[in-house]
Amino acid sequence: MGRFRIKVYLRLRPSDKPSPFIHIQPTSSTVQIDDDKHAGGGPPKNYTERRLFRFDGIIQSSSQEAVFDECAKGVVEDVLTGYHGTIFAYGQVGSGKTFTMTGETKTFIYCGLIPRCIHRIFEEKESKPAAEIKVHVSYLEIHNEVIYDLLAKREAASQITTLEEDGTVEFRGLTRVLCTTEEQALKLFFEGERHKAVAVHPLNQVSSRSHCMFTLYVERHAGMASIPEKTAAKLNLVDLAGFGQSKGIEFSEQSKKEIVNINKSLIFLEQVVSELGRGQTHISFRQSRLTLLLKDALGGNSRTVLIICAWQEHICLDETVLVLFLLNRSF
Ligand code: ADP
Ligand code: MG
Repeated sequence: MGRFRIKVYLRLRPSDKPSPFIHIQPTSSTVQIDDDKHAGGGPPKNYTERRLFRFDGIIQSSSQEAVFDECAKGVVEDVLTGYHGTIFAYGQVGSGKTFTMTGETKTFIYCGLIPRCIHRIFEEKESKPAAEIKVHVSYLEIHNEVIYDLLAKREAASQITTLEEDGTVEFRGLTRVLCTTEEQALKLFFEGERHKAVAVHPLNQVSSRSHCMFTLYVERHAGMASIPEKTAAKLNLVDLAGFGQSKGIEFSEQSKKEIVNINKSLIFLEQVVSELGRGQTHISFRQSRLTLLLKDALGGNSRTVLIICAWQEHICLDETVLVLFLLNRSF
């Protein structure tokens, strides 16, 4: 077990008509689901036996700054002093994962966690030149268990492979770009976003069908009075594929394969998170690309934050209960 416990936050999409069966208690950070009153086609029994879910925090406002302050700020500060960090957004399609991680980037107040983390890291770099901070970025996508490099300088994003060496995972051929300014890092992020669309998915709902990970590698090359050691750490910012499907939509064979792969990798992720939580010595990282990729980030001395995004509408109650159940330390 690493030094830090995984923190789990719930972010609820603002709703005009929340389900009357979902009861949120912000002061105790709990959510209770009233399943006995839940009419017709409710969630499977084993999910509803545990109906009270507790989090490290519940966020109901749509303020992007509030989400950064509560969920990400501490992680970024630790990355600046040498601890790895990983922040995931997890949830049903349309629940707000991309809104949380990327946001609407034209205006800073609507920017999500990725632009805000970039901003904070470069603020530190500029305000402390004596620390000689160097920042590299990489951006990859996992689609149907294949990893694509979104920053590769080719028309289509190139495919990359993983290699395990003395316990750490290496990516063969993953592009890492040195960035000297915040603008440069943001530009690369947007370039990667464009590759995502062209390279892999001709369909819409583009990024909902793949896991995307933007990584910032932060090195302090000179010690300072407050932090005497040189440090190097990475911050993984992950927008996971959405699970669940829109009701009444027919899926092609290709999308069925995608859904199977997404569900498998999310189940493996849940398994890894729960093995880590129980302090097991053998952790099943190798079962999927996603968990293998996150081996360093999850297993070692690193800070991990999971933001569960969910709808409050009644029509999504089954999926909301499922997501609450999957990655929550319920009781
Ligand atoms: P996902 O990535 O989980 O599939 P999105 O982030 O794309 O979902 O969100 C779907 C839509 O809902 C977007 O138009 C987004 O702007 C909006 N949305 C999601 N979460 C929020 C929120 N917390 N506050 C305001 N709008 C939101
Ligand atoms: Mg999305």
